[in-house]
Amino acid sequence: MTLTVEPAAQLREQMRGVVITPTDAAYEEARQLYNGMIDKRPRLIARCLDVADVQAALTCGRDQGMLLAIRGGGHNGPGLGSCDDGLVIDLSLMKSVRVDPASRTVRVDAGCTSGDVDHATHAFGLAVPFGIVSTTGVAGLTLGGGTGYLTRKYGLTIDNLLEADIVLADGRFVTASQSEHPDLFWALRGGGGNFGVVTSFLFQAHPMDTVYAGPIFWEATHAQAVMRAYRDFLPSAPEELGAFVGLKTVPSMDPFPTDYWGRRACAIVGSYNGPVEEGASVMGRLLESLPPPIFNWMGAMPFPAIQALFDPFFPKGLQWYWKGDFVKSLPDEAIDVHIAQAADAPSELSLMHLYPIDGAVHRVPKDATAWTTRDATWSMVIAGIDAHPEQADRLKTWGRRYWNAIHPFNLAGAYVNFMMDDEVQGRIQASYGENYQRLASVKATYDPQNLFRVNQNILPAAA
Ligand SMILES: Cc1cc2nc3c(=O)[nH]c(=O)nc-3n(C[C@H](O)[C@H](O)[C@H](O)COP(=O)(O)OP(=O)(O)OC[C@H]3O[C@@H](n4cnc5c(N)ncnc54)[C@H](O)[C@@H]3O)c2cc1C
Repeated sequence: MTLTVEPAAQLREQMRGVVITPTDAAYEEARQLYNGMIDKRPRLIARCLDVADVQAALTCGRDQGMLLAIRGGGHNGPGLGSCDDGLVIDLSLMKSVRVDPASRTVRVDAGCTSGDVDHATHAFGLAVPFGIVSTTGVAGLTLGGGTGYLTRKYGLTIDNLLEADIVLADGRFVTASQSEHPDLFWALRGGGGNFGVVTSFLFQAHPMDTVYAGPIFWEATHAQAVMRAYRDFLPSAPEELGAFVGLKTVPSMDPFPTDYWGRRACAIVGSYNGPVEEGASVMGRLLESLPPPIFNWMGAMPFPAIQALFDPFFPKGLQWYWKGDFVKSLPDEAIDVHIAQAADAPSELSLMHLYPIDGAVHRVPKDATAWTTRDATWSMVIAGIDAHPEQADRLKTWGRRYWNAIHPFNLAGAYVNFMMDDEVQGRIQASYGENYQRLASVKATYDPQNLFRVNQNILPAAA
């Protein structure tokens, strides 16, 4: 009988949250994604408040044969948190965070941003490893892997995931952990949104309070020296140091020195997640061999402050074009290619970052989680970014040209959260390597019809 009822009316009766259709005043705001380059128009947006809402929305979408998208923080580059003409299961109202200081664990609802969690854990002198922009959704970041300032010391975000509550394609609610549905738990740790709608996560947190953190910028003429020194220093640096190297531009705004506004630059941005004096001394060892920077703003700050450092520069709605790669080594020739390509950046915000994938990440076996490229040394991202939609083609052209020039130095796959949806055939398989077949088998068990396909998609293994 339900099939004869209009889906929006049916869902409104069943849900405690909000159901938004294209004729509602809230629709334009509700459909917007973080990446302004993506313009999707779903038929229904189901803003869920609890697991029962998620089950109702999923059942409605599935029974009506609608395309389903799952939205956590809405930050995904290609906008995989939404879809055209389908149903979006939007978790952004599910925001609870509960810290258990005794076990140092944190229960996080799937609509939280990493800033929501940092706020809650900081009060207890704890932190969970997330990314470097605090408005990013915990759900998509975690399910893809999760890298950030704490990665070298505590591993990827998934290495700190203890369990996840999830609504499956058939509407069942289960908990996945080492002891319950271990195959599903394995796949969730890197396999993205392929297996169901995660409604909450349980994370291990770690003691974290004041850190020695911030950015250091050099003129682009010193980029070769800085990138080489960073590359050579990192393997012997204490794992307390989470620091990435990047090719960027000095923003044309206060408090940056006006003489350098708009000038290309090389940056190291880091957080020493240990005693402040120790951090200053470790960074001193790196800096002593390098030319004087334009500015060195590393200093003592609360951990959530470094987590949110980039937030003001990247408000919602900018144009973003992403390209990624895993990187094993960074020979001098590759550094020169980076510098030449970055010199041509199409806008002030466009950047290249190399995030460390070492330390604790390397201590987890490659087949322990779906995220397999644990022998990489960096995860590279090239991002063409600008406020103006008319620049979109220039951002794409630059990103593709840069990636084509540097990819021969890199590994075959990339971090799935740094990819658009225009990757060549086989890139997803390459990113999961020897774990891909096992992922396809788990997909066949939990989602044989590929209901969850608005993602970096893993096809169910043939029966
Ligand atoms: C400014 C910026 C900075 C970033 N920095 C980092 C960083 O430092 N480290 C890092 O690792 N990544 C980083 N990322 C990448 C980020 O991890 C991805 O964009 C990720 O997809 C964002 O998750 P989300 O929940 O906000 O995305 P959404 O767009 O909501 O969803 C992304 C994908 O995850 C799936 N998904 C979302 N929620 C659920 C759920 N509850 N259950 C099942 N599937 C779900 C969706 O189906 C979709 O495929 C950054 C992104 C941006 C835009």
